[in-house]
Amino acid sequence: MLDLMVLNETTKDMLWFFAAIAFVFGAVWGSFLNVCIYRLPAGKSIVWPGSHCGACGTPIQWFDNIPILSYLLLRGTCRACGTHFSARYAAIESLAGLLFAAVWLKYPGQFVVLAHWIVLCLLLIGTFTDIDHFIIPDSVTLGGLVFALTAALLLPPAESFCGQDFLFISELFGLGSGRLNHWLIGRGFVFVWSAICAAFGWLLLWSVGIFGRILFRKEAMGGGDIKLFAFLGAYFGLCGTIAILFLSSVLGAIGGSLLLLIHKVFRRDEFEELCLEKAKALRPCMVYQNRAFCGAEEAVEQMSDLDAADFSARVIRIPRKTSRQLHHFPFGPYIALAAAVLLFAFPEFKSLLQQYVWTWPDLAGK
Ligand SMILES: [Zn+2]
Repeated sequence: MLDLMVLNETTKDMLWFFAAIAFVFGAVWGSFLNVCIYRLPAGKSIVWPGSHCGACGTPIQWFDNIPILSYLLLRGTCRACGTHFSARYAAIESLAGLLFAAVWLKYPGQFVVLAHWIVLCLLLIGTFTDIDHFIIPDSVTLGGLVFALTAALLLPPAESFCGQDFLFISELFGLGSGRLNHWLIGRGFVFVWSAICAAFGWLLLWSVGIFGRILFRKEAMGGGDIKLFAFLGAYFGLCGTIAILFLSSVLGAIGGSLLLLIHKVFRRDEFEELCLEKAKALRPCMVYQNRAFCGAEEAVEQMSDLDAADFSARVIRIPRKTSRQLHHFPFGPYIALAAAVLLFAFPEFKSLLQQYVWTWPDLAGK
């Protein structure tokens, strides 16, 4: 009894020891994620040249490139020129560290930890490139798809989400899971299932996009979102993909309402003036009476009774991104957040399914 308790204490210590290592490892990767978020949408190489200051171009020495710590020590400035770096760099490093440690604590000692780390890294990149540029790079979506298929082939079927999903579906339809015990045949089945679920995820969001276009008469779903769902389908399986679509819609509705509320609370005019203040002429956009319009047609439509002189006086140039942010927020971050939530809650999600879906025929019979 005593021995067992001592053993438990030791395993607990080891668990937290490795969690601390996972945090440091995650923060180092977070530093690399910052580079990817900055360079991938611009089509630049992510390996060359090494980290340098965006303002003065001075290469950043290794001792100034320690995740989180260097940011705090230099108070977020460049050692050479003193330019201020965004606090987001340190925030993403911390977030990656926390996520890595949390994955380890949730699934200690499993192979699948490595795969979850990679998936979370890809989701982090996609989230911030979508916020910054309304882009989810192909290296995230299609690269993630290739990775998810590989993971289905390499991971033990009992650990991978797609493997568990396949087990659940085959039990549900009474196909049995005996063959999965053979490690090669089991992995083969899960690989094929993973590919089917990728196609399902792609079709699911593609049809949502078509539906949205008919319903709202505007682009509801970007191509990046659809490819992202193919990746998530291959990794999370059939049930997981449906759950992510549902959860991301709920999160999107909540997030959208909050943004709208912020709009109202801070008064639209002031918010738009704030945007104008930030504006540096990049792409043309019309502004009339502190209202920003993305295109000329829209602007003219809204100002039919307008004095021409007044109009020309007020046309200024603001970045396209700023004007779009007045009315739009990308959907990708909500998808990524929903996927991250399911990544941590998958065991609970599975037992819910087994409780309510699996036993459903029995309940209906009585
Ligand atoms: Zn500098």
